[in-house]
Amino acid sequence: MLKSRRPSKTYKPDLKLLANRTILVTGAGDGIGRVAAIAYAKHGASLILLGRTRQKLDSVHDEIAERTGQESLIIPVDLAHFDANSAIELKRGLQNEYSRLDGILHNASILGPKTKIEDYPYAEWMQVFQVNLHSAYLITQALVPLLRNALDASIVFTSSGVGHRGRAYWGAYSLSKFATEGLTQVLADELSEGSNIRVNSLNPGATRTSMRAEAFPSEDPNTLPTAEEHMPLYLYLMGPDSKGKTGKAYNVHDW
Ligand code: NDP
Repeated sequence: MLKSRRPSKTYKPDLKLLANRTILVTGAGDGIGRVAAIAYAKHGASLILLGRTRQKLDSVHDEIAERTGQESLIIPVDLAHFDANSAIELKRGLQNEYSRLDGILHNASILGPKTKIEDYPYAEWMQVFQVNLHSAYLITQALVPLLRNALDASIVFTSSGVGHRGRAYWGAYSLSKFATEGLTQVLADELSEGSNIRVNSLNPGATRTSMRAEAFPSEDPNTLPTAEEHMPLYLYLMGPDSKGKTGKAYNVHDW
């Protein structure tokens, strides 16, 4: 039988892949963000854990400390209320702590209601865009100066299948992911000259998390891949092995 040549099957990240790198993960308290933060720390990174629920971030902090001896910085923040002033505060806070930032995984998102566009409530539409898109734009804009100080830096935006092909009832979530793909392309193009920052999107596909359970309540979660199974691509895009790759849309299922 022919062996698969897909990188997901053959990529073996060095255990020091992210040594001396500082990486910010949004939505780091649960689901894929939690698993990615721990995977990055296990590969040598110092973590900045940003998320909504302090208790969950503390638990990720403690797990990282236990496994690696590294302290992480915790930033409890509700992205539903993140605005230009919050971005200035974040920038100031991180500039006081760090001389550079090596990567951002924009992972935090909400699903919002699964309903027809014609019935979609405006307030929830705005909230989905606020959490999934606007906060990511503000965080990126605030932190590009710190990313510029890195030898090579990586910004990873989290996308979705419905960010490539619209599907009934996925409303603002789908649209916010289309926009995330657009943000990836525009930013990658703008940073392609005169910077060493690469920008890519990553679609994890169906993954066993609470968001997936909310979207598909009758599905058996045991039939789904775990976030841990997707970590080779999360590591590849965050680490130096992906240097030179920018403006691309990655999908765990065809990588
Ligand atoms: P989860 O719902 O399991 O986790 C989402 C994380 O984002 C949580 O840590 C949550 O914090 C945080 N978050 C949500 N709202 C806010 C907010 N207002 N402020 C700060 N943090 C917030 O989702 P997944 O792990 O499943 O999803 C991770 C990413 O992957 C998302 O971008 C999602 O769109 C994408 N994705 C997931 C798929 C899947 O099948 N799971 C498929 C395709 C894409 P808290 O726990 O405190 O609420």
